[in-house]
Parts: sequence; structure tokens; C-alpha cells
Amino acid sequence: MSVDPFFTPVSGFDLPRFAGLASFMRLPHVPPGHPRFNEVQIGLIGAPWDGGTTNRPGPRHGPRALRDASTMIRAQNAATGHRPFEAVRCADLGDVAPNPADLMDTMARMEAFYSTVRAAGIVPLTAGGDHLCTLPILRALAKDRPLGMIHFDSHTDLFHSYFGGTMFTHGTPFRRAVEEGLLEPARVTMIGIRGSAYDMEDRDFARSVGIRVIPIEELFGRGLEDCVGEARERAGAAPTYISYDIDFIDPAFAPGTGTPEIGGPNSFQALQVVRLLEGVNIIGADVVEVSPPFDLGSMTAFMGVTVMFELLCVMAAQANAGMAANP
Ligand code: MN
Ligand code: MN
Repeated sequence: MSVDPFFTPVSGFDLPRFAGLASFMRLPHVPPGHPRFNEVQIGLIGAPWDGGTTNRPGPRHGPRALRDASTMIRAQNAATGHRPFEAVRCADLGDVAPNPADLMDTMARMEAFYSTVRAAGIVPLTAGGDHLCTLPILRALAKDRPLGMIHFDSHTDLFHSYFGGTMFTHGTPFRRAVEEGLLEPARVTMIGIRGSAYDMEDRDFARSVGIRVIPIEELFGRGLEDCVGEARERAGAAPTYISYDIDFIDPAFAPGTGTPEIGGPNSFQALQVVRLLEGVNIIGADVVEVSPPFDLGSMTAFMGVTVMFELLCVMAAQANAGMAANP
């Protein structure tokens, strides 16, 4: 494919990286309704919403901080050789507008936005937002068949409810997704789980439906390649979603998040697990739970956008290989 200058990020040689309006990775801003919207293959989307957060809030400010930090991303992945912006047409689709005072209305707005994205054949790469954002995304992407999922996180987010019956929080999205038939448990793997817990109700549920949970001890014991390889095998060739909670990474490297858990992967391992996803039929991905008010010197935001770039590289390689995004 020849490179269309319209979809080429602004180079730091043409305009310094600290100058200009900050879009994701300095890509063109192509919101729904834009004349070239339907040409986009991978759309980067901000989901500035943390209405599901039960303790330390802040991910509603994630997309702004991530856009700013993403101006540091250059054209080439030096480790893998990918040049994603030349392989596929990428754009910043803007933010999905939440209603910060109404959780159900926000989820309806998000589902509608992602339905538009899907209808245009665009593969979404989302910057959250808290982890409840993933539920309305899955509702849009899994409307007519359940998806596989590879989920990096300290937490399973599989709990039944909070505060005696509140069903929608950032600790429950995947319980709801299973109940709603959005996920195929036999193709779902959760990696990096750790930390203290209220109880094991989430793990018991995972076991009862056949979701595979790989705790951090197993990840480090068996190694990244072996564990992500197992997740890749479980996902198979069918459409699979990738959800990456920044608290998967050790808080020494990513402190700007609401529910940090110590004893996690370092920043290099955080990228390695994404590179190991090559070959998965990714129909969408997200990086969630970056909370700028708890960040230090933007290090978590930079970690988040670097993970997004690695995801983009894998997704672009797959789109170029002709794998169907939304069959
Ligand atoms: Mn999470
Ligand atoms: Mn988490």
C-alpha cells in the first residue's frame, strides 16, 4: 500500500514534538462524519470516563495525558521492525463523549459510538478511562458472536457486584460480559493477577465457566513466552479482544493508576507480552486505568502510549496480512 500523506503522523522534523495540537501519535483527527472516516483502518479513540471507579478516581483525565505523551512516539518500532503508520491507515477518531453524571447513559453512548466505528470497518484501539469502559466496547464489537479475550491486569474484574448489589463498576465488567454472552470463556485468558483480595469469588467464577486465570507467580515461573503462547492458543483464529489494564505493570514503572499492586512486570516485560500477541486475530484493543492525578512526571502516561504503540504494531501487521477485522 502506498502511504497517503493525509494519514501520516506529523514528523518531529517538520514540527517539534512539543508544538501543535496533541492528537494520538500526531495522527490526523478524523471523527465520525469526517469525509475520510470510512477510509480509516485502525482508529485510536479516547474514552475519558471513570464512572465505574470504586476507590481512587482519575482515568477520566487519561486520554488528554496519553495524547500529550504520545507525541513522543516515532514512526518505526526499532525492536520488531514494524512501521504501522505505513502499513495501515491510522487516525485519531477523537473522544467518545461520556455523561459524567450518568453511568447507564454513558455506556449507551459508548456502545453507539463503537457501533459506528465497527460499521465503518475500523478496528478500535482505545485509551481509557477505567475498566468499565471495556463493557460497552464489547457490547458493540460482540453484537452477533462472542469474542475471545486476552486480558493483562492485576485483577480479574470478574466480581459479581459491589456495595451489596451495584452491578456496574470497574471490578465487574467481565462478569457482565460473560453473562451477556459477549465473551467465549474457553477463549479468554487473564494474565498477571495478584494482590490482596476480598475473597476468591472471582476466581471461583472463572473456574466455573472455564476462563483461564494466570496469576503473576505462574507468569514469572513459566515465563512470558509460554504463558502468552497458551493465551494465543486458547484464543485460536477467531476474533479476539485485547484489554490491557496499566496496573498489570509494577507500580514502580506505572504508579499513576487507581488500584496499584506490587510485584508485577517491569516496563520491558510490559512491552514483551504485547509483541508475543502477533498472529492473534485482534478486532479491538484498549489500554485503561491510567490516572494522571496519581502519575509522577508523566511516566505512566508514557508507559501507556508505548504499550498502545506496541499494540498498534501487532494490529497493523495483522491487518496487512489480510486477517478479517470484523467478520
Ligand atoms: Mn482492570
Ligand atoms: Mn486492575
